[in-house]
Amino acid sequence: MSDYPLAAISGDSTSAPDTAPTRVAFQNVGCKLNQYEVEALQDGFQRRGYEVVPFEAGADVYVVNTCTVTGSGDADSRRAVRRAVRFNPEATVVATGCYAQRRPDGLREAGAGLVVGNQQKADLVDTVHRHLTGSTPVAVFDPSARPRAARFLEIHGAPSLGRTRGTLKIQDGCDEHCTYCVIPSVRGVSVSRPLDEVVQQARRMVEAGYREVALTGVHTGSYGRDFDGEESLLTLLQALEGVDGLSRIRLNSVEPGFVTDALIRHLADSSKLCRHFHIPLQSGDDRILRRMGRRYTAAEYARVVETIADLVPDCAIGADVMVGFPGEGRQHFGNTLDLIRRLPLTYLHVFSYSLRDGTAALRLGDRQTRATQRPRARQLIRLSEDKRLAFHRRFLGSSLRILVEERCSSSASAFGLAVGMSDNYVKVLFAAGEQEIAENQFAFVRIGRARQDAVFGELEPS
Ligand code: SF4
Repeated sequence: MSDYPLAAISGDSTSAPDTAPTRVAFQNVGCKLNQYEVEALQDGFQRRGYEVVPFEAGADVYVVNTCTVTGSGDADSRRAVRRAVRFNPEATVVATGCYAQRRPDGLREAGAGLVVGNQQKADLVDTVHRHLTGSTPVAVFDPSARPRAARFLEIHGAPSLGRTRGTLKIQDGCDEHCTYCVIPSVRGVSVSRPLDEVVQQARRMVEAGYREVALTGVHTGSYGRDFDGEESLLTLLQALEGVDGLSRIRLNSVEPGFVTDALIRHLADSSKLCRHFHIPLQSGDDRILRRMGRRYTAAEYARVVETIADLVPDCAIGADVMVGFPGEGRQHFGNTLDLIRRLPLTYLHVFSYSLRDGTAALRLGDRQTRATQRPRARQLIRLSEDKRLAFHRRFLGSSLRILVEERCSSSASAFGLAVGMSDNYVKVLFAAGEQEIAENQFAFVRIGRARQDAVFGELEPS
């Protein structure tokens, strides 16, 4: 086990917030779960009297939440740490998250003074505060710690952090062990957050002003399986449906084997759950799925997506797809393309397979070169753009209810551009005067033009 005694940490010239507000800046690398954790940490630092500033502003403390899901996640994490050191060589640079858990030395070499493992993340604000105030050194990195009793970071604050859609972490870790994935080794086994705690946090977020919460985790579909009772993702959604003032509940990624018919029927009947599923596919070929350790076939995946499209009209359905997994020949990739073409998916997130130390896939033969991966990724990205555009065109001439997320005021006219999101994940842009609509309000917009990245329309009178 490698501990990092605080005596060996650089950058302790910073004053504590008892005398003057210490400025703290954040950089998130990676997934929506990391994004949630950064928001929670920002909230925690603000509540301790720290001032949150942009990364470029020359902060006293930098917190980088790192990612290791691919080789570029590793590289981006190291780059973010080096960038922080460049902005202020005197700052305390804190690295946490999955890459910090997996390769603490890589981040220390990049310039991180403090490396906080995933299992100690819930104490990060205290740890940094004690470091700055010169309290007793503590071990902040324990790679052997496993989160059976993980504590979840909380968000208490209002959407002053610049987002109207709040993220709410309901689960961490994963029991699946897909052969390409390092996440179970850095996040541990699946741990769910108690149902009443999730509901309470949702209530607090509503009180703070959020209208929408997005439920996030590493494997949200397995929510409740580590409890003795009847809790499941479905019972959690049913409980959240009863939170007064909560207008929208959005589900982040759910694995295909966990999108049950009951969950789809709940979505069809719910007035709050967003018509939006993100269901990782990875490959449309059964042999490759088996090599990946995925526990479904292409036909089972297709049945889930087709059931959603039948029962929930105009539902956005996204998928993660991986290209260039070891053994993926032309025919296997062709099967993936064919499946995606015929399914009512509305967008894709495309990844190239990346070799990860410590994964079972490392032992598989028939590795694909970058030269094979790149054109496959490009083909899928084009297919994704076509699907997204076709989905957006469906709404031409009709009206979408959106939650306004941002207003860009214009000095040249009384009208500025406003941006909002529909429940079915369509980004909507429209012109509106300041008197007409504010951020964090709902509005109806009639759609007149569609591009693959957004649609444009006119605000309807309320
Ligand atoms: S389901 Fe598979 S890909 Fe997703 S976190 Fe778990 S092991 Fe990784």
